[in-house]
This record gives sequence, structure tokens and C-alpha cells, in this order.
Amino acid sequence: MENSDTADSIPVSALKGIGPRIAERLKKLNIETVQDVLFHLPLRYEDRTRIIPIGTARPGHSVVVEGVINHAEITFSRRGKSRRMLLCHISDGTGSLLLRFFYFNKQQQSRLVAGARIRCFAELRYGASALEMIHPEYTVLSEHESVAVEDKLTPVYPTTEGVHQTLLRKITDQALSLLQQKNILPEYLPDQILKKYNMPSLVDALGYVHRPPPDADLSELLEGRHRSQQKLAFEELLAQHLSLQSLRQKMRKHNSYQLASANHLIYQFIKSLPFDLTAAQQKVNQTVLDDLEQASPMMRLVQGDVGSGKTVVAATACLKAVEAGYQAAIMAPTEILAEQHYQNFSHWLQPLGLKVAWLSGKLKGKPRQAMLELLKTGEAAVAVGTHALFQDEVTFAKLALIVIDEQHRFGVHQRLALREKGASSAQVPHQLIMTATPIPRSLAMTAYADLDYSVIDELPPGRTPVATVAIPESRRDEVIQRVEKAGASGRQIYWVCTLIEESDALQCQAAEDTAALLTEILPNMSVGLVHGRMKATEKEQVMQAFKRGEINLLVATTVIEVGVDVPNATLIIIENAERLGLAQLHQLRGRVGRGIQASHCVLMYRTPLSELAKSRLAVMRETSSGFDIAKKDLELRGPGEVLGTRQTGLMQLRIADIVRDEHLLDDIKQVAEVLYTHFPDRVRPVIRRWLGQSEQYGLIG
Ligand code: ADP
Ligand code: MG
Repeated sequence: MENSDTADSIPVSALKGIGPRIAERLKKLNIETVQDVLFHLPLRYEDRTRIIPIGTARPGHSVVVEGVINHAEITFSRRGKSRRMLLCHISDGTGSLLLRFFYFNKQQQSRLVAGARIRCFAELRYGASALEMIHPEYTVLSEHESVAVEDKLTPVYPTTEGVHQTLLRKITDQALSLLQQKNILPEYLPDQILKKYNMPSLVDALGYVHRPPPDADLSELLEGRHRSQQKLAFEELLAQHLSLQSLRQKMRKHNSYQLASANHLIYQFIKSLPFDLTAAQQKVNQTVLDDLEQASPMMRLVQGDVGSGKTVVAATACLKAVEAGYQAAIMAPTEILAEQHYQNFSHWLQPLGLKVAWLSGKLKGKPRQAMLELLKTGEAAVAVGTHALFQDEVTFAKLALIVIDEQHRFGVHQRLALREKGASSAQVPHQLIMTATPIPRSLAMTAYADLDYSVIDELPPGRTPVATVAIPESRRDEVIQRVEKAGASGRQIYWVCTLIEESDALQCQAAEDTAALLTEILPNMSVGLVHGRMKATEKEQVMQAFKRGEINLLVATTVIEVGVDVPNATLIIIENAERLGLAQLHQLRGRVGRGIQASHCVLMYRTPLSELAKSRLAVMRETSSGFDIAKKDLELRGPGEVLGTRQTGLMQLRIADIVRDEHLLDDIKQVAEVLYTHFPDRVRPVIRRWLGQSEQYGLIG
């Protein structure tokens, strides 16, 4: 079924009017082939199929009108730099309208004169004194000429600099006619499926979406719910599903290390903890330990809300590997988190006579060499670090387990790269992935279909929800009083500076300024500061002092976002909360509420608040469960952002929308089965069509 004439093998440059320069610009829209052109769908549509009588046209709508110019004049706008404008007053017998042109040349000026008949298209708006169109697209019509209107709705495409709508329309025209003439996008869904689900063919679906007929239901189209769009979404999600399934099967074929052991180390470790494991921790522990005894590699995602105690589960898994004579590695997304794990693991494992190694990008020179040596010889049983753990120069003696903490920051690709890292020719390491960002189950099943999945659905006893308030910045004094009160009663406080500007430097500056200010206002408190520009050792010293209670008030940038654990901290102030996403706010808030004391979170915001910001703050006030917050987050932001897929390439969807199209998922699973069983030769082509050639999608091997 693969031949050189499929749409994904025809470069855009094969279309008329596409030279190398334009081809280069189209790349910015991820358009490189004719298939990309066909899958680049309109954002919305304009109706140029009817000429609207001016008298009935309403402002706010983009319409075609036709009329005669009664009067044309050149004026200068009064405001700003006086600017030349060409004004044409037109009427059509039902009403009149003003056209305003800012850019025009001599030739245009000579044609736009009284008596000329003109057809124009633009949005209608109320001007100073009359209904007007700013810079309409127009054609001057000769005396009795009648020019046909469009017979299809006009698509408006997502575009980029130097690529005009007209260009995109021209190339989709060509791509669509190629599609009609030749079999450049073969239908991979069997007839029986198309019938069963009442789906249009791929050719019809694309034709409809790019050039809908005048009577199309626009609101349905705009929401992406038309059956033509649903057909495309269905195939795309099917491709995702098949790809993840193939990955999963490919991995299952590998062997891993069967970690049989009597679990002595694990018993000792759990006995040494100052608390009992929750039932949820025990259950997940058991599942993980069972996985590790199998010959096929574990690939398990453990989801547990902030503070649910995932680290203990990670440590238990590591001990399973160690007792069987292997190494384990645990990787965290940030230096601070990695440092904290290092401390925890050292504290837990040293008494068991085990050596824990530490590796981060910042570790250089001799200490680094020493750590590398520990990993290479196998002297270190467990390695803790950032992604530096998986650089080329790092070799492990016998790595059997990789734990990845806070998975939402890593995508499928990175996950796979890690897998390769520890793999010998015969065996690949087990993988345990932990995320504090709860994801609705259906979404997890799709985005992480290559993983098994467990939830720690219980917090350790005695935790009370963090009472959350939103306070405008104008009431900063009140907030400072609260901080003072909390400090006076022996509690510790976080003050998180987040900044409007993206710049790391400015954010650090803001934290420094705030720390200086608070030190001055609160002379009885010891104020500490951590931010991303400090040296790892400095940060560590401050964090340690905070943990020991020597610092009452810790001013920090969002470097403290994930995982930092100080149970005596019961108040957190988050500045510019209106700028942060729900996931980040939830993570930050999770720094408190870790002990038995009631905790509070103050979200400080600047007015005016956008609608989105208002809803987010409301969600934070009303909701404490990370699971519910994640659901709201999906509704408010969409899955691309929630899963971090924009950055990581996990589930990059072109057409489907995982929230909108969630109802398709069950059918997709069934159709995938049908393909596997009855049309196995179509599986790869479908995956390739939507996900490209990469072996990372399970196409090879
Ligand atoms: P997270 O799931 O957010 O990574 P941590 O593993 O950091 O959570 O655990 C949060 C805090 O709860 C830590 O101080 C940890 O020692 C403590 N903890 C973990 N399990 C329990 C438990 N079963 N009972 C009481 N405290 C626990
Ligand atoms: Mg954690």
C-alpha cells in the first residue's frame, strides 16, 4: 500500500506557485507535503456565497456587499500622525456604507471614483457616523458585468508571517483536486467500519472541511463536531492508539531482569519509617513488586496527588532491585527535587548499608568523576539525579530499574531514550513513572496507553485541606500581617514570587527585592531566599536551614514548585497567582498541608482579572483534590497544555481534541482490534500517516 504517489511523499514544492522561499515559510506551519496541506484545517469560515443588501447587514459580521460609489474623497485622519485615507461612500438602494482605505496607489485611486460599481468583503462595523468597512477586499465591476459569487464557504486558515490566506486557499485548491483525481490518500478504514459508524470517506471529509457548502452548519463546524471532522479525528486518535499499542507490544517482547528476592531490605526499610504506609501505598507497592519479579519489563505509571507519599513507593521498588544484586536510578525534573530525593534516599538507605550516588548537570570535575566511578563499578546501589543521569558518559554496572519522578515534564520520547539507555543487548531495565499531576483516566489511558497504571488514591492520615483565599495585591499589608502572625506562632511560611516577565533573571530579582522588603518589615523573623540563579550548594543550604526551622519565612521563585517537603510550613503566599496555571498553583499549594496543622494558601493577584484567571482562582478556592483540579484544568486549557505535549511531542494532535473527542475512544479501541485481526497490513500505514516515519512510534522492530 506504500507507493511514491501518496500525499505524504509529494512535497509542497510540487504544487504550482510554491518556490523554495514560500516552501520555507510553510514549514513554520508544519506544512511540508501535500498531506500536510490537506490536514491543515480552517480555523473558521467566511460566507461569500451571498451578496447582502446593505440595509439588512448587521455590524460584527463579515459580508459581501455590492454597490455604486456615490462619492470618493481623500482625507487625513485627525488623530496621531495625520494619515492619508481614501473614503468611498457607496449605496445599493437598500442602504449606504463607508469604505475606508489606508493603503492605496494611484491606479486604485483612479478606479475608486464616483459612479464605479464595486463588490467588497469585510467585517461591518459602526464608524463615527455611519456603517463602515475598513480596508475591504474589493473588485471593481464593469458596467453590466455580473460576476458569480463563491459557491462554497471561504475557509480561513491558521497562518504565519508571509503566508497569506489567498496562498493557502490556492494550495488547498490544488491539493484537493489532486485528492479527487488520484488516490493520494488511500482509505485505510474498512468499508464495514465506515458503514457501521456512518463515516464519510477521507476524500469527502477533507473536501467538506476545506470547502463547506453554503448551507453547512457553521456552529457545528466551528466546534469540530461535524461528521467530516469527527472522521478525521477518529483516524488520528486511532493512529495514536495503534502506535502506543505497538510500542507496548514491542517493549513486552524484550526481556528484563527478574528481580526475585526475599524482600528483607524492604521490610527493614518500612520498619524504619516513622509512620505506617497507607493502604493505597501498600497496594501500589505490592503491584510494583509483582511487576519487578516478571521477566518482561515493568512500565508502570503511578499517579498520586501531591503529598500522597510516592517517594516511599519509589524507594521500595529500588530496594527490590538492589536486594536482587542490581542498581536502580531515580530521576527528577529539577535540581532541588533531585537534591531532596538524594537526602531522603541517603537518610533511608545508608542505615541499610547501601551507597547512594548523586549526579546533576552542575556537578563538575573530580566529584563528578567520583560519582561516575561509583555508578560504573556498581559500588553505588542507587543513583539519584536530574536527567544528567542519562547522558552518554554515564554508564551503570547493572541498572535494572529506572524511576522517573514527576512524569508530566517528560514526554514519550524522553521516556524511550531512557529505556534505551539502560538496555543491554539482552535485557532492558524496568521503568516506574510517578506523576503528581492527576490526569482523568480516559486521558491517561490514551496518552499513556503504552503504560500500566496505578493510583495512590489516599493521603496519609491527618492531612486537612489547605484553606485557600484570593486577595488583591492592594491588600498586601493584610497578607504581611498574616505572615507575621503565623511566624509568631512558630509556623513556617513560603512566599513565592512569580513574575509577569518570562525572564528568569527578573524573577530572581523580584524575589531578592521581596526578601529584602520582608526582612525590613518583619524584624522578628528570619527570612531566607532561594531562586534559580543561586548555586546549587547555596540553595541547598537555605533549603536545609528552612527544613531545620532556622528560617521562618522562605522567599522563593517557582524553583520550589515540585516536591519540596517541610511539614511545619503551614502558610504559602503566591504572588501573581492570576498568571499561573492550575497545575502549577496546585503544585505550589501542595508545599503546605503536609503536617497535621491546618494550612492556608493566599493567592495574591493583580487586577483586572481575565475570565480565565477568575475561573482558575475560583477552582483553587473551591477544590482541593488534585484530581478534580486536573479535570477543571483540562476543561479550561485543553489537553495539549495539561499534558505538556506542546513541548514534549507526546500526543501531538493535528485535528483531534482529546477532550472534545473523548467519546470516540471506546469505538477507537474496537476498531483497532478489527484492524489488528482482519487488516493487519493497514496498521503501519495509518500510524505513518498521522505520526510520521519515526521508529519512536513503534513502527520499527
Ligand atoms: P509525593 O507523593 O508528593 O511525592 P512525598 O513522597 O514527598 O509525597 O511524601 C510527602 C510527605 O509525607 C513526606 O514527608 C513523607 O515522608 C510523608 N509520608 C509518606 N507516606 C506517609 C504515610 N504513610 N504516613 C505519613 N506520612 C507519610
Ligand atoms: Mg514527590
